Amino acid sequence: MNIKEKIKEYAAKIDIDLIGFTKAENFTDLEEILRERESRDFLSGFEEKNMEKRINPYLTLEEAETIIVIGISYYVDAKDVEYIKNAEIYGNISRSSWGRDYHSVLKEKMKNLSAYIERETKNFRFKYFVDTGPLVDRYLAYKAGIGWYGKNNCIISKDYGSWIFISYIICNLKLEIDDIERTSCQSCNKCIKGCPTGALMENYQYNSKLCISYLTQTKEDIDYRLREKMGNSLYGCDICQLVCPYNLYVKSGQRDFIPHRDSHNPHLLELLKLSNREFKKKFGHTALGWRGNKIIKRNALIALGNSRRKEVVKDLKEYLDNPSIMIKKYTAWAIIRLDKKRGKEILDDHLKKEEEREVIKEIKKLYKFYL
Ligand code: SF4
Repeated sequence: MNIKEKIKEYAAKIDIDLIGFTKAENFTDLEEILRERESRDFLSGFEEKNMEKRINPYLTLEEAETIIVIGISYYVDAKDVEYIKNAEIYGNISRSSWGRDYHSVLKEKMKNLSAYIERETKNFRFKYFVDTGPLVDRYLAYKAGIGWYGKNNCIISKDYGSWIFISYIICNLKLEIDDIERTSCQSCNKCIKGCPTGALMENYQYNSKLCISYLTQTKEDIDYRLREKMGNSLYGCDICQLVCPYNLYVKSGQRDFIPHRDSHNPHLLELLKLSNREFKKKFGHTALGWRGNKIIKRNALIALGNSRRKEVVKDLKEYLDNPSIMIKKYTAWAIIRLDKKRGKEILDDHLKKEEEREVIKEIKKLYKFYL
């Protein structure tokens, strides 16, 4: 058995669902795509800032020869979910943040796999990355034959659909590389039509800044019209994956990603009450924990504003007195969005005591926009 076969066999043993190998080289074709996305202001800002590092693996590992790409499925079968509430008063967390934080799951696998290769070879030099690496992981997965690009900009695998996490090892081993996957997107355009904010476009174009997943993570102020399209999204968004025909019949993924109790579908009003310590206890082990209590609460306020449940206005009033200016502003938005008449009475009343100029300005802006 050659070393590549041995690596594949070991990867399967440690529950790595997909593995592929691609040559480390200057990805000049990718540069063109990224430059265009940059010029159209379509990048999210969460990516590696140095464009050269995104396309040139030698800047990360001088002696790079091969990139080993792995895919881990996070698809959870409905029968494994304790319960899912669909009422608007519950927030929605995307599947990629269900169960254990995928960063730690994937890091364990990468550590294990690279330690195995180190034992089996001489002078193995490598660097592995999970999520925050300099290269474009979806592009590498495509090059390594893990799957093909969908118009939803996800990598779709034959067995697991697009419910896969990707990570990679840049290394100095010369290994036989894999062919790209020849299957392609069906171009049914269900993802483009289904995206509430119009983030997906023809020709595989994608504006990250309009993506609901990005909006739930950004610290930037969110445009009112975009907030209205976020529905009850608390963290991430699965719409473009849920509508994709390739995701209809897929194998279930790792049990690590099965959510416990309501951690995937929390009650929004209860979430607003969490202290930092309680937030950490509830979400610290999940992939949304890093984003912090305040941003998730902001998202909960957006979800409540979109819930059409006028009766929650009375529960929201107290958050106008929150020490955070951001929470005050989003509370005002949620109140006016839920009930214009009662909302104006509450905010008029609040203006009599509000001292923060930013909050006063926001309430006036909301009146102009919504009334
Ligand atoms: Fe392609 Fe249709 Fe899936 Fe979009 S929903 S990625 S167009 S197959």
